Order: sequence, then structure tokens, then C-alpha cells
Amino acid sequence: MTISQSRPQDLPRETVLSPDVDPHTGIIHCPLCGQTLEDVGTPLVPRRFLEADIDDDRQEIPVFGFRCENHRREDVIIPAPTDRAPESYTRVDARLDDRDGAVPVAVPNPVIDA
Ligand SMILES: [Zn+2]
Repeated sequence: MTISQSRPQDLPRETVLSPDVDPHTGIIHCPLCGQTLEDVGTPLVPRRFLEADIDDDRQEIPVFGFRCENHRREDVIIPAPTDRAPESYTRVDARLDDRDGAVPVAVPNPVIDA
């Protein structure tokens, strides 16, 4: 049995997952723990997830979506469906941890316009 020790360099890993949307209610759940996600915002996603050619020096890009607070060892970020994003957002392709293909996510326009 291995006893794991917490080390300062073990920073939480970002996990970006597609939303689990209830087809009847439209309510979005965390695909890992099933928690209802209500507080939509712009959590930061490492730019390696985004396929768009973003002309921006930032290593993290805000994405319209949710962060599930139930996971202490991971930063679990769930982009919201792009059709829920305000008009000031632009769709870009992302490659999420649970998808082989690209899926659209919404990012604030200033990121793309920069
Ligand atoms: Zn969760």
C-alpha cells in the first residue's frame, strides 16, 4: 500500500469536461459527481484545450461555463452549451478531456478580438 503525501508541487490538475445536460429540464450537471451547476461564469481554461488561434499571451482563457466545487484535487471546469452564451461571446472549438473530437465553447469577444 502506498501512502501518498501531499507535496506543494502537486497543484490541482485542470479537467475540462463536456456538460451533462438533462434533456427534459435543460439543467446542467457535473458529469463527474452529478451536482447541479447553477453559477455560470467564466472559469479559466488552459489554452491548450482551445483549438482557436488566439492572439493572446495568456496561458489561460476564460470560457463561458461552470466550475464544480466538489472536487478538491482537480479543477473541474464544465463549459456551458454555446447556445446559452450571451451575444458578446464567440464560439471556438475546444478539445475536452472526455471528447475525441472538437466541441464548441463560448469565450468572451475581447479574447478573440485582441
Ligand atoms: Zn462535480
